[in-house]
Amino acid sequence: MSYYNSSELLVPGSAGQLVLQPLWDRLKTWEALTGSPFFPVFFSIITYLGFCLPFVVLDVLCPWVPALRRYKIHPDFSPSALQLLPCLGQTLYQHVVFVFPATLLHWAQSPALLPAKAPELLQMLRHIVFCLLLFDTEFFVWHVLHHRVPWLYRTFHKVHHQNASSFALATQYMSVWELFSLGFFDMLNTRLLDCHPLTILIFHVVNIWLSVEDHSGYDFPWSTHRLVPFGWYGGVAHHDLHHSHFNCNYAPYFTHWDKLLGTLKRAPLPAWLSGCGGSPSDSGPLCSSHLSQEKHT
Ligand SMILES: [Zn+2]
Ligand SMILES: [Zn+2]
Repeated sequence: MSYYNSSELLVPGSAGQLVLQPLWDRLKTWEALTGSPFFPVFFSIITYLGFCLPFVVLDVLCPWVPALRRYKIHPDFSPSALQLLPCLGQTLYQHVVFVFPATLLHWAQSPALLPAKAPELLQMLRHIVFCLLLFDTEFFVWHVLHHRVPWLYRTFHKVHHQNASSFALATQYMSVWELFSLGFFDMLNTRLLDCHPLTILIFHVVNIWLSVEDHSGYDFPWSTHRLVPFGWYGGVAHHDLHHSHFNCNYAPYFTHWDKLLGTLKRAPLPAWLSGCGGSPSDSGPLCSSHLSQEKHT
């Protein structure tokens, strides 16, 4: 948060800025907390676990609630405690042992200085979309490389593929190198775009949510890939296919890079849509979002 361009402090307030100013003023009253070297790690873990928790509860309920299974990509799969606990343990361990010292070092070099003015709303939304597109591109290149070079796959990426049927807490089940690479891409883009600290905070929340949703194993009518038009967004349906097939859908969020490079694999229609097959290996008819994606492939 410390790399915000303070010259923006001189820009006069606009309507978009006024919308966010009360929120920003409120957050600034907690500056002692948000400026603390503990805040980035604390915020990251709490947000991540907070997003995972509802899916963990759904997974626990799933065997007894048949209606829930309709929304599962793998209806008969529920992660066991032996799968959940190592994931939780590894996330906590890596954040305490590796991420915290790194953020402490960064904080010591450049302590956070928060500007008085909030970001302009449209500018903030633009920055978040650009950050997501850049992150998607960087991760796509990193991901293809770590699948095409056997040594990179074996040494760094294989651990993330340990769970063929994904679940929320498996999102950050990855090597330290992968965790740092993703953290670096995440931070690099906000710095390149000179984002406001509030934008950075919201982008982190959005990025964590989308990554957890990607691994949740649930394809709901309100899942992000069903809300974004024209099949531009792959989301959980596509990333789940990556986990089961390995050689497709390398981009974490959007579909354009996989379309361009011929690595896009369409997801089958989920069980809750009428006349559709429910398992990833089915080749049933396509739902509206996949039909739309098909047209634009
Ligand atoms: Zn992979
Ligand atoms: Zn994954």
